[in-house]
Amino acid sequence: MPLSKVLFDSTVELHLDMERVAIESRAIIVKLLQNLEKELVAKVADGVTDWSKARIDKQLKEASTVIKQYYDEAAGISKDTTTNVAQVSASATTDSLLMAVGNQVTMAAIPTASYLETLAGNTIIQGAIQADWWSRQADDTAFKFQSAVRQGLVGAETTPQIVRRVRGVLDISKRNAETLVHTSVQSVANATREKIFDDNNDIMSGKEWSSALDRRTCPTCGALDGKRWTADSKPISHSMAYRAPPNHWRCRCSMIPVLKTWKELGINMDELSDNTRASMEGQVNDKTFSDWLKRKTETDPTFADRTLGKGRAELWKSGKITMDQMISGGKPLSLAELKAKYDKPILDQMKNNAYEIAKSGGRNKGFFNQWDKQKKGKIEKSIKSLLTQVDIHNEKIDNPKNNINKSISDHELNYLVTIYWPKEIRNFKQQIDILEGILGERHHVKK
Ligand SMILES: [Zn+2]
Repeated sequence: MPLSKVLFDSTVELHLDMERVAIESRAIIVKLLQNLEKELVAKVADGVTDWSKARIDKQLKEASTVIKQYYDEAAGISKDTTTNVAQVSASATTDSLLMAVGNQVTMAAIPTASYLETLAGNTIIQGAIQADWWSRQADDTAFKFQSAVRQGLVGAETTPQIVRRVRGVLDISKRNAETLVHTSVQSVANATREKIFDDNNDIMSGKEWSSALDRRTCPTCGALDGKRWTADSKPISHSMAYRAPPNHWRCRCSMIPVLKTWKELGINMDELSDNTRASMEGQVNDKTFSDWLKRKTETDPTFADRTLGKGRAELWKSGKITMDQMISGGKPLSLAELKAKYDKPILDQMKNNAYEIAKSGGRNKGFFNQWDKQKKGKIEKSIKSLLTQVDIHNEKIDNPKNNINKSISDHELNYLVTIYWPKEIRNFKQQIDILEGILGERHHVKK
């Protein structure tokens, strides 16, 4: 069975969008780690007058605590991103399968929001779950920071010299964090797709590895490109064991589902409308990124500009930048934009993210249970006061000095502005989402 054009095109597009989400999420985390760097540099500068042993030990211990706080926050952002990635991947993949079979079969239900939240957290990323990678990176950064300071002191270096060492440590930390975010996003997206393939394996004859986005950069994946496995993951005409991409850090490969024939699906092509038949019979022969881009641009002239950033697609076509440069420099996509883009009817049930997660027994389920029984008026009042809290906290972030006790240290202030208040706002917003979800559901039931 040749590859369906619908499935190839939608896979490449979803994959590219995930790259863009990773770009956005990486930028947020790098900004966070830049703040961490500022704090650590301040600590070093602070030590300049007194580097007694007791004082160094105290400073370094404090630094480890600060590093851990920042990395916990980074881990939280990464978890939120990948939870959204799992939801969008689940529905977009289901949607594309449905489109490819011209709405002729019944699809398995999309996994619940809490299932997908757990899947995001438990997906193995190059050997470990994301939470473990983040705490390992935090330990690593703390260890290297300590070594940098002690080494500098032993060598009787000046403060600027030690600061330079510390910045070097943080540069590596930032790069490692970026790689982790990127590969986490793709790992979770692919693990989610695997789940959807498994749930719908009655309509699939197999899966095909695609390196459409990564052919040049990875020799291992080059050999996998175009290889097929059965729906239950046995190799077809080769001996390479099945595994879901990504194959390595920063891998850009994906797995494309291969459908059963219409006959195997029990569908009589002659009885179908022309439109349905056209969508089902569309096949793709040239499975490269440039073919894909050409096809997309034919029907939607501004597609390349919107997705890749103005000019980049042109540069690539004329051979002036590599695929890797083009994709890494692509246009960032925020989670809100991602969800809006894939917001088709099939996605409606996912609109209230926090609500769906809480309702299906995931995060905030206690809050959900407590409020699900309350009267409408009380819930509305609560939403109003939560919205006020969001405003108050935003104002605190904008004007921190007006809102705090004067005796607070710079570190504490920085912590409030960068980590604590934003986290509070996120919690309030989740609670609002849940309360609105509860009201929405009641309204729906009444109608
Ligand atoms: Zn690869």
